[in-house]
Amino acid sequence: MSRNPEKHRLKQRVTRKRYYAVNSRTIATEKEKGCSVCGLKEELPHRPLGFDHLDEAEKKAKISRLRWFSPAALEAELGLVRCVCEPCHRNRHRSYRKVSVA
Ligand SMILES: [Zn+2]
Repeated sequence: MSRNPEKHRLKQRVTRKRYYAVNSRTIATEKEKGCSVCGLKEELPHRPLGFDHLDEAEKKAKISRLRWFSPAALEAELGLVRCVCEPCHRNRHRSYRKVSVA
């Protein structure tokens, strides 16, 4: 417990900013590999790439949200996802529904 909550908050904010910078680089590196299904690369200003959890049951948090958490937490979550473009992501969920209906 911190005896100076104000100072503690400030320190935490600085830490989070540092995490954010490190994690943003990690995420950018992951995205440079392109879509893991069709190989599509991200081209600005379009950002079609996102992260898809292979097993939704194991999902702890969205990758984008983990930018604010420790790099270790992000790395762990990245091990559970693959990088996919929007169309491939949609296709996957469509085939999911088909399976559950059948
Ligand atoms: Zn794709």
